[in-house]
Amino acid sequence: MLRVQTSPFIQEIHSPWILPEIRLFIKREDVLHVMVSGNKWRKLSKNLDQAKKAGAQTLVTFGGAYSNHIYATAAAAREAGFSSAGIIRGDELSADNFTLRSARNMGMDLIFTDRTTYRDKQRLVERFRDRWESPYFLPEGGTNCLAVEGCREIVNEEVRDMDVVAVPAGTGGTMAGIIAAMPENKKVLGFSALKGNFLENEVQRLLDECAVKSRADWEVIDDDHTGGYARVTAELLHFISEFKAENNILLDPVYTGKMMLGLKKMIQAGAFRKDTKICAIHTGGLQGWNGMKERYGIEIPE
Ligand SMILES: *Cc1c(COP(=O)(O)O)cnc(C)c1O
Repeated sequence: MLRVQTSPFIQEIHSPWILPEIRLFIKREDVLHVMVSGNKWRKLSKNLDQAKKAGAQTLVTFGGAYSNHIYATAAAAREAGFSSAGIIRGDELSADNFTLRSARNMGMDLIFTDRTTYRDKQRLVERFRDRWESPYFLPEGGTNCLAVEGCREIVNEEVRDMDVVAVPAGTGGTMAGIIAAMPENKKVLGFSALKGNFLENEVQRLLDECAVKSRADWEVIDDDHTGGYARVTAELLHFISEFKAENNILLDPVYTGKMMLGLKKMIQAGAFRKDTKICAIHTGGLQGWNGMKERYGIEIPE
């Protein structure tokens, strides 16, 4: 129901930090759709089919003020003929940013909650349920088992042939889908965009809950050096603009940039055997640059 605008393709990366005995590729999921980019398209697609089947009229979800998921849900709802609503963490003042302005312009009904209220999603659902006719609730970040199912489709024959798949992780839903689709003896590396070491448990919980049977090996890398979610360092920004100059591919500062910088460090530290073929997933999220520019004056690398 959500139309693909451009089919994702795989290209080889030729940055000078790639050791000669390693091959690094990138799967361009960022090109799937201009508005609903990358993994958010994969996560929403089956949920939208389900919402339509259930006769739902409004997609309701949760997120922070700069959330790629909020932005993607607003765009996907509009395209697929639903109304949309977003319950936002933080006060009304944050409404004046690119992400929320765009969501509102795409017709999303925004509800602002303070951080404490925001934590209890079940209560929020009960409190606001009557505001919408036939709502379909999507969890924060869009991760549920239908989303995991949708993310399996990131893995095509070419990706299955790789030795290692690298993916950025927030809730871990995308990673779980990739694990589900990868064969035995292959490895999935999830690079956490958040501080803390909860993600491994979270991914395991998702694999169990969604009854994923997979024999692929997987590991969460959570030694983020940038100081936490949506934090950027000079090193990260410099890396992203170098990568853009070398490969003409723009990474985002919250997810894919951190993943690629993490991969660079692992490759240079000799973490991969000779002749390893690695495929990194460009999960999209480039709308996030607009928020970086508004908040910190950080320009999108040319
Ligand atoms: C949301 C997002 C992620 C994280 O996906 P999860 O399924 O929550 O782990 C990764 N990359 C980008 C660009 C995203 O927008």
